[in-house]
Amino acid sequence: MLTFLKNFFSQRGIDCFAPILLSDCRIERPYLLERAGITDGTAILIAIPYYTAACNDPKRNISAYAVSRDYHGFFKELFNELLPALSKAFPQHRFTGFADHSPIAEVEAAAKAGLGIIGKNHLLITRKYSSYIFLGEVVTSAILPCKTQDVLDCENCGACIKACPAEKIGTCLSALTQKKGELTEAEQKIILQYGSAWGCDICQEVCPHTKRAIASGSIFTPIPYFEESTISRLTTKVLDELDEDAFSERAFSWRGRNTIRRNLLLFESEKGEKE
Ligand code: SF4
Ligand code: SF4
Repeated sequence: MLTFLKNFFSQRGIDCFAPILLSDCRIERPYLLERAGITDGTAILIAIPYYTAACNDPKRNISAYAVSRDYHGFFKELFNELLPALSKAFPQHRFTGFADHSPIAEVEAAAKAGLGIIGKNHLLITRKYSSYIFLGEVVTSAILPCKTQDVLDCENCGACIKACPAEKIGTCLSALTQKKGELTEAEQKIILQYGSAWGCDICQEVCPHTKRAIASGSIFTPIPYFEESTISRLTTKVLDELDEDAFSERAFSWRGRNTIRRNLLLFESEKGEKE
């Protein structure tokens, strides 16, 4: 089964995956496994890199993860192909897929499976792509050979903790950009000061693992989905040009158009620009 997966993934640019027994995972949502009829078996953790050339745009004003279309769409397409193919090839076993809403503690499981280390910023840091990855997994009732490792933490250089503005501004910047409704004058100033209309990558940007991955070029995703339809600098004009389908494919859609529009208008009214 692992050879089958390796072939399937390599045809799609996926090179960072590893199995771990469910019995070695911390199960956080058992009902998701029960619903799939799987009580024991293996989780195949998949790290999907998303950093593109557009993320290097110095004028980027949204978080790197929001530059491409939303990763849930990627996993949906992947699982729609992969799960029936697995069921056909291995009819004696059950298969299901998760991304985001997972039955297991994903970061810990990925580290135990050997995909990377856990950073002080609580993210999984992979060798090639640093922390610019999305995690998902295929869960199967099959027991696969696994090389479970001890969880390794990063070197604790402290750069992410030092650079994080949360303490200074009294809230997480990413959460603030996603807050619905009116912003206070102080909140508006914070968003303007940090220049992000959506999200915050500060703790990832300052990490030496990210700097190394950018310098070597290994950080860039080989997966075409994330290269297509990128938006590095969002404006109200670009936003207005997205029809409802295109808008719903974007990570910044989940708080509605008004939230991201409100943030963009802050920048545009400050600069008197309407790009
Ligand atoms: S997203 Fe930004 S503000 Fe929030 S915890 Fe991370 S570095 Fe700090
Ligand atoms: S910046 Fe330093 S402490 Fe933070 S995750 Fe990276 S290596 Fe670890």
